[in-house]
Amino acid sequence: MNDKSIVVNDKRFKLFMTEAEILHEVQRVADEISRDLKGENPIFCPTLTGAFMFMSDLAKALDFDAMVQFVKFASYSGMASTGKVRNDLIFSEKCRGRHVVIVEDIVDTGITMDYMLQEIAKLEPASVRIASFLFKPDSFRKNFKIDYIGRTIPNHFIVGYGLDYDDYGRFYRDLYISEQ
Ligand code: 5GP
Ligand code: MG
Repeated sequence: MNDKSIVVNDKRFKLFMTEAEILHEVQRVADEISRDLKGENPIFCPTLTGAFMFMSDLAKALDFDAMVQFVKFASYSGMASTGKVRNDLIFSEKCRGRHVVIVEDIVDTGITMDYMLQEIAKLEPASVRIASFLFKPDSFRKNFKIDYIGRTIPNHFIVGYGLDYDDYGRFYRDLYISEQ
């Protein structure tokens, strides 16, 4: 049944998580966030470009309305982390003093998120929480806590559901994993 595979650029990827499974986890995460932050007027800061689909589904699954401000910090080129983070679209001044939820597609080494945590701290937010749809514990090198996780995954390259391989593969509604 689940042997569906896709080709993105020069690589083949196989089905890893279906849209239904994804939406189930998104709803669970949204319920956790609603429980913690409803009534607190949090500001959601999703990262471009990968988190756009997760943010969209999360917004629809939350049971309250809130402010959203996208940010862009990039550390990846091709299928490997460069270890350096670029600052393309910084956190809004609107985060100052607010309850902030950083929304990521995936935390891998944690370098990007660690950098973002330092940046957001400068705006002295009331609190900072992290929601990452995917988390790769085997490649994680930092020690911050991820408050909301959709799925913990093995250390392989993933595409689909907003995540790209060299700019393509983002529009698939399921998640796919590298066949190596
Ligand atoms: P980190 O700084 O935690 O190593 O990497 C974070 C960023 O690298 C993610 O936001 C994402 O853009 C990219 N990344 C890490 N692992 C993957 C992966 O398996 N697939 C894709 N498409 N991007 C990844
Ligand atoms: Mg990202």
